[in-house]
Amino acid sequence: MRSKQEYIDKSEENIYKTYNRFPVVFHHGEGVSLYDTDGNQYLDFAAGIAVMGLGYHDKEFDDALKSQVDQLLHTSNLFYNVPVVEAGERLLKVSQMDKVFFTNSGTEAIEGALKIARRYAYNKDHSHDHEIIAMNHSFHGRSLGALSVTGNDKYQEPFKPLIPGIKFADFNDLESVKAQVNEKTCAIIMETVQGEGGIYPATEEFLKGIRALCDEHDMLLILDEIQCGMGRTGVMFAWQRYGVKPDVMTTAKALGNGVPIGAFLASGKAATAMAPGDHGTTYGGNPFVTAAAAKVLELFENRNIVEHVKEIGEYLWEKVEELASKYPVITEHRGVGLIQGIEFSIPVAPIVEKAIFQEKLVIISAGANIIRLVPPLVIEKEHVDAMILKLESVLKTCE
Ligand SMILES: *Cc1c(COP(=O)(O)O)cnc(C)c1O
Repeated sequence: MRSKQEYIDKSEENIYKTYNRFPVVFHHGEGVSLYDTDGNQYLDFAAGIAVMGLGYHDKEFDDALKSQVDQLLHTSNLFYNVPVVEAGERLLKVSQMDKVFFTNSGTEAIEGALKIARRYAYNKDHSHDHEIIAMNHSFHGRSLGALSVTGNDKYQEPFKPLIPGIKFADFNDLESVKAQVNEKTCAIIMETVQGEGGIYPATEEFLKGIRALCDEHDMLLILDEIQCGMGRTGVMFAWQRYGVKPDVMTTAKALGNGVPIGAFLASGKAATAMAPGDHGTTYGGNPFVTAAAAKVLELFENRNIVEHVKEIGEYLWEKVEELASKYPVITEHRGVGLIQGIEFSIPVAPIVEKAIFQEKLVIISAGANIIRLVPPLVIEKEHVDAMILKLESVLKTCE
């Protein structure tokens, strides 16, 4: 094995520079712990950005992957395969949707969702000037379509012109959305809980209002559940807490527990908008990745992961509230289940760095002032307690 510094130097020399990485080289994981190449153990409250729901090195999950590797990795979508059937069945059951398309990533799931919206509107009037309303401070991915609906000027600016016909409104402000609706609007896209933008759950009033607005104007409601879905809020998909249902939904991140897979799903009238030939992918839904997703969904059911998140999420909430009451630099605490944000009056970059290097606690930010807690869904109370102790040690040095 090379030294830690050699890995870092080679990466910086060869890998395209679009990230500022922490100088840590992770080597393996176990449960909710990560280990670096020097053998240091870290408590992980980031889960590879809300991906490793089941944690690391889960035997049942890993065995399912290994047995699929021995059988079949890929066939293309010119043929049927076995695991995609099970993954599709399981995902439709827990999402209450009617049709699913498997993608390789979150951003591709968004592309598919946007194409459904365009196609649905096109089917009605065959015109080419349909508009989509997206939210300020949203995040939907980095490909050009997804970037076009991402309400973050820093990400968009160097890549303009983006796709036309996108209007932005304020999240949780129904009037600002209504102001953007006209006869050309074909869809509204939003995260049920804004992740990247700072952990802002939609209010019930807002989401219900958006649903009613979509119904009134025959627009599709697209809910991006890529980060907040897959059990993270204590229900399988975050919208299931609100008593509204989207026409189109996207998922990814925790769906494959580290194996790259996403999906867009559609219900009702949206489920039949696209026809054969309208969309495709070489890898998407291949036997390897869908074996992973099918196993994730099976383990979620067998282990009652969603119920666990509900309980442990409440415990995490209480512990962060206690911390917030002791440290005035904490100005707000938001979120639900195991997607929680702690907002500070100071920039959090030094807090995150100290947590990682001094306390061996992996946490990430969401914007300059917010710490985002998106741990593996299988954390226990002892891990919450350990995280709070570590975070508190850092906060003591910030005063
Ligand atoms: C991560 C994320 C995406 C993009 O997913 P990728 O797999 O990185 O392309 C889209 N929407 C939300 C809400 C996300 O958190």
